[in-house]
Amino acid sequence: MITLEGKSVYGGIAIGKIAFYKRSEITIKRCHVEDTKREVKRFEEAKVKASQELQELHDKAVEDVGEANAMIFEIHQMMLEDLDYVESIVNIITTQEVNTEYAIGTTADNFAAMFQAMDDAYMQGRAADVRDVSERLLRVLSENKSGPMAVGEPVIIAADDLVPSETVQLDKEKVLAFVTMYGSANSHTAILARTMNIPAVIGTGEGLAQEYDGKTAVVDGFEGKIYIEPDGPTMERMQRKQQEDAAQRELLQQLKGKENITADGQKIQVYANIGSMADVGAVLKNDAGGIGLFRSEFLYLESNTYPTEEQQFGVYKTVAENMAGKKVIIRTLDIGADKQVDYFGLDKEENPALGYRAIRICLTQTDIFKTQLRALYRASAFGQIAIMFPMIISVEEVRKIKGIIEEVKAELKAEGIQFREDVETGIMIETPAAVMVSRELAKEVDFFSVGTNDLTQYTLAVDRQNEKLDEFYDAHHPAVLAMIRMAAESAHAEGKWIGICGELAADLSLTKTFLSMGIDELSVSPGMVLPLRKVIRES
Ligand code: PEP
Ligand code: MG
Repeated sequence: MITLEGKSVYGGIAIGKIAFYKRSEITIKRCHVEDTKREVKRFEEAKVKASQELQELHDKAVEDVGEANAMIFEIHQMMLEDLDYVESIVNIITTQEVNTEYAIGTTADNFAAMFQAMDDAYMQGRAADVRDVSERLLRVLSENKSGPMAVGEPVIIAADDLVPSETVQLDKEKVLAFVTMYGSANSHTAILARTMNIPAVIGTGEGLAQEYDGKTAVVDGFEGKIYIEPDGPTMERMQRKQQEDAAQRELLQQLKGKENITADGQKIQVYANIGSMADVGAVLKNDAGGIGLFRSEFLYLESNTYPTEEQQFGVYKTVAENMAGKKVIIRTLDIGADKQVDYFGLDKEENPALGYRAIRICLTQTDIFKTQLRALYRASAFGQIAIMFPMIISVEEVRKIKGIIEEVKAELKAEGIQFREDVETGIMIETPAAVMVSRELAKEVDFFSVGTNDLTQYTLAVDRQNEKLDEFYDAHHPAVLAMIRMAAESAHAEGKWIGICGELAADLSLTKTFLSMGIDELSVSPGMVLPLRKVIRES
């Protein structure tokens, strides 16, 4: 038996086989070739194969998501046949006497750069498509069709690290637990594991060797331990712990339908955080009072290109309808930093957490922002949607947002499209600047929601992504708590409500503190709703 230790991200015991995450990394080498005709033939054959794959994907997508959404695969097929694209690849092979892979890679880079440089957002989006198509060709050539990992029986996923776009593409039904060599406890991958109620241990270091692929293991998410090929007594101990945990969760079920109320009568809302439509089931199962944070950027992370207004509308409407009149707070696009989306073509930055992200993208690429706002307002006719904006630092930003909202509303009205006029709008309080001007901000909005993950990062100047700094990332720091208190006082002074949707909301050792600050709502991962209700009722 081998025991590995890491940082616990989400409690729970998982027992199963380890499967190493297979990343479809394709490294392109430049090789000199004598027989260029053979290389051109390899390219032609790969093109036929890729086109067949796209046809199959298209046909499946038509059934699953409809013709309009399946069109992307037709576009990719057309790109494969594009004369300029094909000519470029064949020319590079024949004139430079190089291998097909290199010619495809170079053509993809050139074409993507050309699209990227265009003014039109639609054409810029084609940069991702040309990369996608080229990667497909390269996968066919290397006969590596893994792509996002597809697994049979549920497994314990092991990886060096997982970025959010990889995590969201895993089939959640097939994942018993996550174990990673690296990664910070405050990253979005860790947050996703919590949202999905999946036991997770990160930062095991290099002890987590590839040779364990396929071996039986136990992940103890409470202790942050992994037992590989556990001996009899360990297996028995872990099975007992798993049963105890299940019994504990069962006990919590009795709290369903009960109020979130303290012994002396103080009430607080307990909502849940989600990353996708698939998480709504867990929200309802755990009896959350609403959704306090829908991280809408995961829609963009799951996709190969900008989700259309129709696609977004479909998701927001379904979530609102499923929540049947309960509040659904949807946060507008918050990409950048660790949440990278290829097709946005964002530049590499020295300090991405302090960079071009979230509302800064929305306020400078207003076409993207307006598409999302139109979808949100349209969906507002089907439930109680509220909208919240991330990374706010100034009153001016909020006024600009309100101006854009008015434009969107006017457009919808002119088109005779239904929406609710009284959609609540709020902002995330996750920068010290927002806290310091919170009194002014409170005059502009309906509510605040404190993003303690970023607020801690920016208040303490500690990068939440840097695993070496986990010990310095102290969300209990008095400065962070003072920030939350100040934001609460500002909100209440202006008659507005305030919630917390960062991970700190689920820190049960602080529930009393938040109650004493008069926090009105706590939004936590679905699995934490009932444990939090228990602590509130015992306070
Ligand atoms: C936060 O910063 O606390 C937050 C809720 O947003 P995210 O974790 O997605 O940055
Ligand atoms: Mg944040």
